[in-house]
Amino acid sequence: MIQGAKLYEGKAKILYATDDPSLVIQYFKDDATAFNAQKRGTIMDKGVCNNRISSALFVYLESRGVPTHFVKQLDDRSMLVKRLEIVPLEVTIRNIVAGGMAKLLGLEEGIVLERAVFEWHYKSDALGDPLINDDHVLAMGWASAEELSIIRAASVKVNEALKAFFLQRQIDLVDFKLEFGRFQRSILLGDEISPDTMRLWEQGTRRKLDKDRFRRDLGSVEEAYQEVLRRVLGDAKQATAASR
Ligand code: 5GP
Repeated sequence: MIQGAKLYEGKAKILYATDDPSLVIQYFKDDATAFNAQKRGTIMDKGVCNNRISSALFVYLESRGVPTHFVKQLDDRSMLVKRLEIVPLEVTIRNIVAGGMAKLLGLEEGIVLERAVFEWHYKSDALGDPLINDDHVLAMGWASAEELSIIRAASVKVNEALKAFFLQRQIDLVDFKLEFGRFQRSILLGDEISPDTMRLWEQGTRRKLDKDRFRRDLGSVEEAYQEVLRRVLGDAKQATAASR
């Protein structure tokens, strides 16, 4: 696969064209930003960890019947993915109160929710990814009713699959963000699934193993990403065998 022109550079990733117009290379950087890019930094080898973690999780989710943009891991920092027309929505699913939900409702972090909370956010850096509902999406034509129901069902499936996956690795899946896109008349899970986009707490200790260590200056940021990678890959063969 030949790496072509740079198509897009975001905060944590770069997309490159390939010789196949339907495929692009997703390259993971070490750059980290938080609070709508007001805080910036570098997390050593974050790109390597996130590429490997995302690759393993995409393979796992495909095995659980969730269609994704993932084709294959190319090297330490890049993966080959299908080129999506991104739906301008971010889906957030929450199992435990933290971050945005704690702030929105004035709640303590750590309350275990009776059922998962599903949120749509409009993907806009300028507006800080505001919380919206189905009516906003339909009225603005950002996605159709059918697309919303496909995305919602896939997101619920992802939550169930990832909760179980991390439970086996002594990690609680607190919350996460997903993005979807259109590809040849289907809807695929896109972007990445990594400690940049999930909150992961070690079971028992509630030690944070995700980007909150960077956002909140908690230290040992690199170690947390490495720990997640170790736990994800450590049992990857076992998990694949168990799901057969
Ligand atoms: P919150 O709404 O609490 O800030 O975020 C909920 C979850 O989604 C967290 O796991 C967080 O990492 C992820 N998330 C939400 N918005 C973004 C975003 O714009 N970028 C990234 N990397 N993650 C996000």
